Amino acid sequence: MRSSLLSLSEINTRIAAAERNAGRPAGSVQLIAVSKVQPDERVEAVLQQGHRIFGENRVQEAAGKWPGFRARYDEIDLHLIGPLQTNKARQAMALCDAIHSVDRPKLATTIARLAQETGTCPALFIQVNTGEETQKAGVLPTDADGFVAECRAMDLPVRGLMCIPPADEEPALHFALLAQIASRNGLDGLSMGMSGDFETAIALGATHVRVGSAIFGAREAG
Ligand SMILES: *Cc1c(COP(=O)(O)O)cnc(C)c1O
Repeated sequence: MRSSLLSLSEINTRIAAAERNAGRPAGSVQLIAVSKVQPDERVEAVLQQGHRIFGENRVQEAAGKWPGFRARYDEIDLHLIGPLQTNKARQAMALCDAIHSVDRPKLATTIARLAQETGTCPALFIQVNTGEETQKAGVLPTDADGFVAECRAMDLPVRGLMCIPPADEEPALHFALLAQIASRNGLDGLSMGMSGDFETAIALGATHVRVGSAIFGAREAG
């Protein structure tokens, strides 16, 4: 098994090189270490290395894992990157600093109501289904401008857009499309790029890359 510690510094080095190659400032890309389904020891090893930005794709799993780590490590920045059911929105908002999967009016309305009620709201990314895949979450590219406007009209803190390209297509086309939609909506946050394609994503403007297996090793289940 590869060591998480070595892998983390290797990924950071590759991110820095990709920033340089793209002529972007050092530190302009945030690495979200996707810890879903990883054993606690591997997550702990990455925390001990000083990394603080993590991603989970299930609220339930995040709720079981992160309060304990937060009690022992300061300044953890937790991002929900997986689909969010409306009835879990309250829990997700209490737990997470960012939600990358805002993808429908009903969820946006619920988040807006809870934000009013609690006086706080995580940073939000709107998920765009750039590949127009029926099984995948996200607003269609043609609906994205309208949905961004709708979220803004509710005073939601829209930080940017997120996509997960189809597994069998050239990711660069999807990253470029996401960047184009973000740009015409005046958004600069771009959550795109995973273990296999984060350098391509950085070349096309990613501000947040979501890297799991390249840091932690293969997921054993789920
Ligand atoms: C699991 C996951 C990732 C990380 O995938 P890797 O290929 O392991 O880097 C990124 N984004 C989302 C939405 C995920 O669910």
